[in-house]
Amino acid sequence: MKEAKFVIYLLVINQKRYKVNLAYKPEIELSYYLQNNIWANKELKAYALTKPLPIGLVEYTYKRVTTVQEREGVLIRDLFDDITELKHECSRRIEDVLSYYSLTEYNQIRDVKSVNITFPSKKSLKGIHQLLAGRLLYYDEIIDALGENQLTLNTSLSLILQTLKLETKLEIIPSIFFQADNHLVCQRCGEEEKLIAMECNYCGLTDYYCDNCISMGQARICRPLYEFKPVSKTNTVNAIVKPKLNFELTAAQSDASQELVQFLSSQQQEALVWAVCGAGKTEVSFQAIAKVLARGGEVLFAIPRKDAVIELAPRLKESFPNFEVSVLYGGSETKYDLAPITVATTHQVLRFKDKFDLIILDEVDAFPYQGNQMLKRAVNRSCHLQGKIIYMTATPNNNLIDFEHEDDKILIKIPARYHGHPVPEPELVVTKLWYNKEAKEIKLSEKIFTIISQSIYQDLSQLFIFLPTRELVELVGEKLQEELPKINGESWVQYSHAQDSKRDKKREEFCNGKYPILVATTIMERAITVPKANVLVLFADWDFIFDLPTLIQMAGRAGRSLEYPDGEVWFIGQQITSEMKKAKSRIQSLNQEARKKGYLIRDN
Ligand SMILES: [Zn+2]
Ligand SMILES: [Zn+2]
Repeated sequence: MKEAKFVIYLLVINQKRYKVNLAYKPEIELSYYLQNNIWANKELKAYALTKPLPIGLVEYTYKRVTTVQEREGVLIRDLFDDITELKHECSRRIEDVLSYYSLTEYNQIRDVKSVNITFPSKKSLKGIHQLLAGRLLYYDEIIDALGENQLTLNTSLSLILQTLKLETKLEIIPSIFFQADNHLVCQRCGEEEKLIAMECNYCGLTDYYCDNCISMGQARICRPLYEFKPVSKTNTVNAIVKPKLNFELTAAQSDASQELVQFLSSQQQEALVWAVCGAGKTEVSFQAIAKVLARGGEVLFAIPRKDAVIELAPRLKESFPNFEVSVLYGGSETKYDLAPITVATTHQVLRFKDKFDLIILDEVDAFPYQGNQMLKRAVNRSCHLQGKIIYMTATPNNNLIDFEHEDDKILIKIPARYHGHPVPEPELVVTKLWYNKEAKEIKLSEKIFTIISQSIYQDLSQLFIFLPTRELVELVGEKLQEELPKINGESWVQYSHAQDSKRDKKREEFCNGKYPILVATTIMERAITVPKANVLVLFADWDFIFDLPTLIQMAGRAGRSLEYPDGEVWFIGQQITSEMKKAKSRIQSLNQEARKKGYLIRDN
């Protein structure tokens, strides 16, 4: 059934009623109906109307030639005596569509005979359905899932899948389907543009594959996707679930946590948690998670970055010790655990449908989620119809901020950091920056050296210096290595960017206080926290790179720890851009809000 071809067939239920079906093997379906006496008629007749065809093609043909009533078998047609006429009528309709694709040789009428087989037991069907419910998988992935969970089958997988389909626990759909004659859509990721034509070795016809989701396996017209329907959770008893935390939530966190719990029982579908950098927003969702788990629900925590997934998983395990946590990312050890809590990179969400009762999407403004329609669709699709989605970010875009004004959404703010001190407000500085791109030369003004000296000698702080490009990072990094003194023969300054192979090592050493100054591009803006740091952004007026969210994230590196909550932040440019001004005023207004709500321990 791996590269299954499917057949359209006619099922004559009785003298007044018929149904047109799509099946992998009509013989199996006929036998199932007869053995289970589904239509209360032992004289059912079935006729195949096509030869086996790639699922995408035959599904489109099927939808084109049948009415809804014919597909559901509710059509009452007055006493037709002549089944032959009905067969030929259906067959003619099919031929019309197939001729468009020059595939009329696939048209045929053939009697279908029932076969003597034993269908899988209810128990084994239930076990497999429970394991795979809410997932959208290729055949190979089903095999992996069964193997990973050491589920051995005593019937063929193909027969199990066909039976689950007959029992409406499973839908089998083409991974690329025809929306109209010349309009293809990938059902794994929703892509409509990047579908590439090829001569297909699997079906032997001209086929298409999806270039957009190729990293998750090749979607093709001839490749089925198996959509396992969610299990009903109505029978689960309410239990009391309390998250274990080894610290107490602050007033700001606790208020947000309460609002999220209320959100669960509200009419709203989506909530945005807008927290300042360093607010400690993750644990704010734990009460809501507990509530959903207590009802027997399933929770997904999705984060764009793999390292953040790996970092969060143990925290969730610790806080919910009685619940299994499944951890998914490209290359993760397991992919198909049966667990009520899933932590995953956003790409992994493509393998789910209608599964989760609560989805928490962290760093919603970050690459690759931000601006990626495929991932947005995937997240929405993986959410159960009555499920809820919580978005979290320190730097929401305007669409997200508009949640405040939309009826079906709410906006929850955490304007204070966990340590109760305000977020350091940036000082906007205009100074001359000499940069000759052709000659690869840079000159740093006296003002910049003054700031560096102040950070190192006066504040005894570490210093982030952010620059907009890799080349500037290298130029400024080398310049400072020349100009500044060395400790034990080693430079005070290290520099790093996305192409730097020693990036992780340098990051770790900076975090451990091995050297005081790190010069970097924005790659370091999120992933790094040091206890006592100042932040200097050079060329802050290059607003095509240093936009509002990036500036806020960079400024958010300062003053993170309780021991040193007051860092300094400078945005330095040849002019002051509106992004720089907006970043400053946004930080100020959130600080004011925190102050007004009494979330700050002291004023400065
Ligand atoms: Zn795709
Ligand atoms: Zn193919």
